[in-house]
Amino acid sequence: MEDYQKNIIAFQIGVEGLVQGVGFRPFVYRLARNHGLHGWVVNRTDGLTIKVEGPAASLPGFMEDLRNLAPVVSQVDEITIEQDEPEGLNGFFILASQDMTNETSEISPDIAVCPDCLEDIKNQPHRLGYPFVNCTNCGPRFTIVKDFPYDREKTTMAPFTMCDQCSEEYTDILNRRFHAQPVACSHCGPVYTLHSGSMTITSFAALLELTCSMVMQGKIIAVKATGGFHLMCDAMNDEAVSRLRKLKHRDGKPFAVMFRDLETIRLFARVSEPEALALSSWRRPIVVLNTIRPLATGVAPLLNTVGAFLPYMPFHHQLFEKLRLPALVLTSGNIAQEPIVIHNEEALGTLAEIADAVITYNRDIFNRTDDSVVRIINGKERILRRSRGYVPLPLKLDFLVDGILATGAELSNTFCIGKGNRAYLSQHIGDLKNHETYLFYEETIERFQQLFRTKPGLVAADLHPDYLSTVFARRLGLEVVSVQHHHAHIAACMAENNLNEPVIGLAFDGTGLGADGHSWGSEFMVCDFLGYDRKGHFEYMDMPGGDRAAEEPWRMGLSLLYKAYGNNMADLDLPIFKSVDNKIIAMVTGAIHKQINSPLSSGSGRLFDGVAAITGVCIHSQFHAEAPMRLESLVMPGIHDCYDVETGAAISFKPAIRQICNDMLQGVPLALIATRFHNTVTEASTKMIRKIHEETGIRKVVLSGGTFQNKYLSESLENKLLKDNFTVYTHSRVPCNDGGIALGQMAVAARKRVQG
Ligand code: ZN
Ligand code: ZN
Ligand code: FE
Repeated sequence: MEDYQKNIIAFQIGVEGLVQGVGFRPFVYRLARNHGLHGWVVNRTDGLTIKVEGPAASLPGFMEDLRNLAPVVSQVDEITIEQDEPEGLNGFFILASQDMTNETSEISPDIAVCPDCLEDIKNQPHRLGYPFVNCTNCGPRFTIVKDFPYDREKTTMAPFTMCDQCSEEYTDILNRRFHAQPVACSHCGPVYTLHSGSMTITSFAALLELTCSMVMQGKIIAVKATGGFHLMCDAMNDEAVSRLRKLKHRDGKPFAVMFRDLETIRLFARVSEPEALALSSWRRPIVVLNTIRPLATGVAPLLNTVGAFLPYMPFHHQLFEKLRLPALVLTSGNIAQEPIVIHNEEALGTLAEIADAVITYNRDIFNRTDDSVVRIINGKERILRRSRGYVPLPLKLDFLVDGILATGAELSNTFCIGKGNRAYLSQHIGDLKNHETYLFYEETIERFQQLFRTKPGLVAADLHPDYLSTVFARRLGLEVVSVQHHHAHIAACMAENNLNEPVIGLAFDGTGLGADGHSWGSEFMVCDFLGYDRKGHFEYMDMPGGDRAAEEPWRMGLSLLYKAYGNNMADLDLPIFKSVDNKIIAMVTGAIHKQINSPLSSGSGRLFDGVAAITGVCIHSQFHAEAPMRLESLVMPGIHDCYDVETGAAISFKPAIRQICNDMLQGVPLALIATRFHNTVTEASTKMIRKIHEETGIRKVVLSGGTFQNKYLSESLENKLLKDNFTVYTHSRVPCNDGGIALGQMAVAARKRVQG
């Protein structure tokens, strides 16, 4: 007996990370019981605390399982172990959480329906065919959360009273639905309704049946998803897709496509191992893939990529089970640039004008979230649009950002609020120039402050005084730290990679106000968080027409041609001179010559625009970044030659432009020209970086900016730099485009605050 007593040990274990609302406490409970340990588990502000006591021999196995068998969605950042006194505890208990009114824990992002729940739809009598099935491992989270702590009454599930069966599951610690806040069944949970004309259908089986036949007939259906409405149609039906495009006032921007399953995606696109992992992860993002077989022509006009994703709601699975189609267009339910519709009434108003039927359900979406978009570049997941499945998980930084609000950029806006060392980057907000989107921005800033219990004391904003995000920042009446746009890009990537030392930063971007008043966007800087030294950039280009040059690639084409040839450019037999009116060409050239309304830009995006126009790849563009995307689509891997540039303090592409024109006139295939051009950018950049390294000794290179969404450019530049023994840092969890700017602004403001 005495020997046995000696072998009883006790420990307190702290678990930090996303461990609340994801079934972690029941998991610990089951684990402790399996290993014959007594004790308790309790939620605390930043995670949970576990006390275990029992035979010493049981502990290693318990710890191993705690690390390895944790629920899929949980994310354990840190485990701490401290020896404790045995108290002679008998049994294992889940203790009630302490009041945490002013404290927060992490709120889980929304989770795709799990395989167990899909089984339950087929087997559990009270959930047969029920489309709102969920458990602690899956279901809506952030989108239904109104406040903290994460309890049913604080979510949009509050109006639904659990039936006896559900509440039994909810309170049974050994049940998969123990404390699953959105738990529901066909007796007590939300239901779908289909509205078409004057008809409404509430029988789910009939609704599914009708939806299928309408989709097969080429109809467009608005359907409420997790974070907002989708507009849906057959992805193989040219007519349906082009009708959707027209009705939605959608320019040529590609539509996302939901495929039946992974095997089906492989029929249409190349899928690498990391791409397959991203597609089937519980986050279920849209993954940009290279197509091998076309869908309907209007899905992604003139691009060789498709944004593919897999079913993530029970409804999607149930629909595909009935539907004899490989894929559906599932695009955000909005008109033009407005935020996606989340309210039923609005859907029945605006979306009913586009769609032949609107499918709603009677649980509210509280937090709007778009589908997230990722792309695998050099084998690593890079997030391009961060929203459903990712938000609101914070980034943990190794410095304090408490009380800082970073208001972000203007076009692909996200904002960021700081609490402790955690940076809460908002979901994708969108273009603030759209009034509805701007209201969404203000509302979401308010909500994040409430949800994470923080009030800003310091604001970080873009240097550009006219960005609506900057105007908003100024109106708060707090101290504002202005951060140059490209410095913020690099700082975001540094923060994400926990770097805090001088680095060589390369920001390749469309636009952003520079310190000299010109528009920047190909900046080679030596920088840390406190400041930057601009060491090089692409030679300034005229932007005839100002902002319009960013929307009309032919303007940049003329600008580059005029610089390379002067008035002789008119003698060149190039497609641009055939597709733009002569008078307009004369007018715009005159404006460049006289420097009227032709601001200067070093934006790499503008260079890509210009080259796309000169080669005739994209003379008139219909959506943001179309020209660079189409140019990238033409690239043929395996070609390594490039054009010439002149390198001084600025890199001049004048020789390259002349060589491109010569290639054009000699009928060199566009694919070859596009590839050579990409290689030229890579080559010139590497040279510049080498030069900066020789000057400074710095070997760490940080790449950021929207142009790095270009997979070929990113991969070839990264690989070239790696070969040269540089250490290369890139984004993964934060967008390289303006969706990541807020994090950089926050990091700069935090460091400046420490410096005083
Ligand atoms: Zn589940
Ligand atoms: Zn129920
Ligand atoms: Fe930018």
